[in-house]
Amino acid sequence: MSEQYEAIVIGGGPAGLTAGLYLMRGGIKTVLLEKVLPGGAPLNTGRVENYPGFPEGISGRELMERFAAHAKAFGLPVREFSEVQTVSLEGTRFTVTVNDATFDTAGVIVASGTEPAKMGIPGENELIGRGISYCATCDGMFFKDLEVAVIGGGDSAIEEALSLANIVKKVYVIHRRDSLRAQKILQERAFRNPKMEFLWNRRPVEIAGKSQVESLVIEDTKTGRIEDLPVSGVFVYVGYRPDTGFLGDLVQRDPAGFIITDEGLATKTPGLYAAGDIRKKTLRQISTAVGDGAQAAVSLERYVLGADR
Ligand SMILES: Cc1cc2nc3c(=O)[nH]c(=O)nc-3n(C[C@H](O)[C@H](O)[C@H](O)COP(=O)(O)OP(=O)(O)OC[C@H]3O[C@@H](n4cnc5c(N)ncnc54)[C@H](O)[C@@H]3O)c2cc1C
Repeated sequence: MSEQYEAIVIGGGPAGLTAGLYLMRGGIKTVLLEKVLPGGAPLNTGRVENYPGFPEGISGRELMERFAAHAKAFGLPVREFSEVQTVSLEGTRFTVTVNDATFDTAGVIVASGTEPAKMGIPGENELIGRGISYCATCDGMFFKDLEVAVIGGGDSAIEEALSLANIVKKVYVIHRRDSLRAQKILQERAFRNPKMEFLWNRRPVEIAGKSQVESLVIEDTKTGRIEDLPVSGVFVYVGYRPDTGFLGDLVQRDPAGFIITDEGLATKTPGLYAAGDIRKKTLRQISTAVGDGAQAAVSLERYVLGADR
């Protein structure tokens, strides 16, 4: 016999924890299913400076511990190490399965975020964890006083390059264009940092090394010249991809795989909502994930109480 709920939230990042908090305050019987531990992407972020209410900034970990404590204060049950495998619909009820349990629910909020995209170049798969990383906050200390490369030119790349510069000897930023996409304030800090060197109009073509990263092979996109950059670490920030396979055809996706929702964050299946980075949107931040979590919870609550049926 599967456990019965009114709402299931998939994912315990900023969007999911906010949705859970709102649902509990709304008196909706809810469980949050989290693949690992609650907190989401900000657990792997150094300092968060743009979440309102923290003028001095706050570590991503502390912020998310506060999110989780707040949701739990309203009684939200969080089931850790519960990766959702499938979501299916029979009549008006959803069945959600994790590795060791099955749940029955009237409504679902998908808030499972994104994963770092890979570069897809030779050497990458072979050397993950041996010099290739997608998380400077997690792995930066392994490269103390060494030279590393950061791939990318957006906010994540530059934020992480700046935090690496506090630890390592030198950070090369490899970017395929001749200017950054990152926010101006981050750019200014990065350009001022004596440990950072920018290699513009370059694209990585191979990561070389036997059992550890030894160098990054880059191509000048203007001249085609190939260069071998000796580095001990390569940190990759070339975008993020959604993993929505467990939803089958219950949702509509954009060409990149993000879930398409309406203004109330409903998907094409009544009772199924998407919130946070997993959905098609133009700004992926903690503040927008929080807004999404609140909106999806209120939409689901109305649906469960019959107002939207
Ligand atoms: C390096 C970096 C720096 C950043 N810096 C900032 C910043 O300074 N300020 C800012 O506002 N934003 C920042 N962001 C963006 C911010 O972290 C995200 O926009 C935000 O975390 C999105 O929240 P979310 O809840 O949608 O997803 P996530 O935070 O990604 O949470 C998703 C959760 O779902 C879980 N999950 C995934 N699949 C399943 C499954 N099948 N079953 C169960 N659980 C699952 C995951 O384990 C995870 O806990 C940064 C992101 C990165 C990567």
